[in-house]
Amino acid sequence: MSWNTFATVAETVKALDAKQVSAVELATHYLDRADALQPTLNAYITLNRDLTLAEAKAADAKRASGGEAPLLGVPIAHKDIYLIDGWRTTCGSRMLENFVAPYTSTVVKNMADAGMVTLGKLNMDEFAMGSSNETSYFGTVKNPWDVSRVPGGSSGGSAASVAAGLAPASTGTDTGGSIRQPAMFCNLTGLKPTYGVCSRYGIIAFASSLDQAGPFAQTAEDCALLLNAMAGFDPHDATSLDRPKENYARDLAKPLAGLRIGLPKEFFGDGVGAGIAKAVDEALAVYRKLGATTVEISLPNVKYSVPAYYVVAPAEASSNLSRFDGVRYGHRATEYTDLLDMYKRSRAEGFGAEVKRRILIGTYVLSHGYYDAYYLQAGKLRRLIAEDFKRAYDVCDVVMGPTAPETAFQFGAKSDDPVKMYLNDIFTICANLTGQPALSHPCGVDETGQHVGMQIIGNYLDEARMLNVAHQFQLATDWHKRHPSI
Ligand code: GLN
Repeated sequence: MSWNTFATVAETVKALDAKQVSAVELATHYLDRADALQPTLNAYITLNRDLTLAEAKAADAKRASGGEAPLLGVPIAHKDIYLIDGWRTTCGSRMLENFVAPYTSTVVKNMADAGMVTLGKLNMDEFAMGSSNETSYFGTVKNPWDVSRVPGGSSGGSAASVAAGLAPASTGTDTGGSIRQPAMFCNLTGLKPTYGVCSRYGIIAFASSLDQAGPFAQTAEDCALLLNAMAGFDPHDATSLDRPKENYARDLAKPLAGLRIGLPKEFFGDGVGAGIAKAVDEALAVYRKLGATTVEISLPNVKYSVPAYYVVAPAEASSNLSRFDGVRYGHRATEYTDLLDMYKRSRAEGFGAEVKRRILIGTYVLSHGYYDAYYLQAGKLRRLIAEDFKRAYDVCDVVMGPTAPETAFQFGAKSDDPVKMYLNDIFTICANLTGQPALSHPCGVDETGQHVGMQIIGNYLDEARMLNVAHQFQLATDWHKRHPSI
């Protein structure tokens, strides 16, 4: 069997339906390629051929007996933050190096119910804290376009695996940009849905009021098919939205005539690389050709996004990560004097430097006497930012701009200066603080040939429209069809 390793999910479904390929053949193809490229890219933390092939065989058997499911037999790789029963789940940390999940997260279960076959667990920044995949305990992931550069983070393995054709699609999580920024760095389409659309149950918590699951794929059409599988109400997650299922692919074919694109002047300022600005301008010209109009808007409070995020995210992380105490699960120090010493040593050994930094900041801002000055204040900023967007939607349907101010950078370029690293998320964080959906799609390259992403931020629950917008752009362009020669 010869298989186009860059086939989209939509094409893969067609090939399976036409019996041109079986689920076992597909799984074997991607597993072989994952093994071959693991030394170069380090995209996976765990591969388990037996578990994967058992699922693929079951999918083939179901097809043979006339069973149906929308994505039956299509392989998917999951970020190693999703619990999957029987699979090692590390969250990129030494703390969970040997942890085997006792149950399956709702998103993975939903995808399995849609017929998808788990290929493996993808590398990521430790506890999803990072923008470059350099904080993973299991080593950095390389960008398949240029292995001297980062793939973005924290879902770096998720992006690298799809970009390199090790999987047709993958899952990620996005707390401050961790789907959209790596999607840009690796020339993919990545979507962070509205907060509450995908259940957080069984996803290791980073910052609970910001975390959201979403897909990585070659195309917006694939993201729609994947979100159809991932989304849905879940009584196990108190913040899950209880609403009817929707078909996110329903509007893909709609023409863009009359679409109003808001361009926030704050997203087009000095900090944006010249090559990025140029690529985004050219992409906006394509959108205008497709019938859209653009209008300048202002989001005066988005400048507070990064400071507000670096109060809220560490605060919630410090609370969420308190469960890793060496008693119930995770790493336990072998030598200690008493119980307190055991906690301290286990956490000191189990967590890496960036995670410790966040726990320290979070504990500080939540401490008595500081709560009002920091966490409460950050909550007020979140509301102001949300109000900026609410006003914007009076004059536009979607908001666009560059996904990140810089393209994929070299390893080490920012790792000794956390603030520099944090600023890479300057355009993505606002959508997490407000809970709005946002995606990134390929839209060009900069002077050095690195990929540029266009971010589309939409109003709450407007995913179908945003995917329509990105899909129409992809029908008119071929940036998303470029693949690395790896
Ligand atoms: N880079 C951001 C951080 O380190 C966002 C991470 C994420 O979205 N998981 O917190």
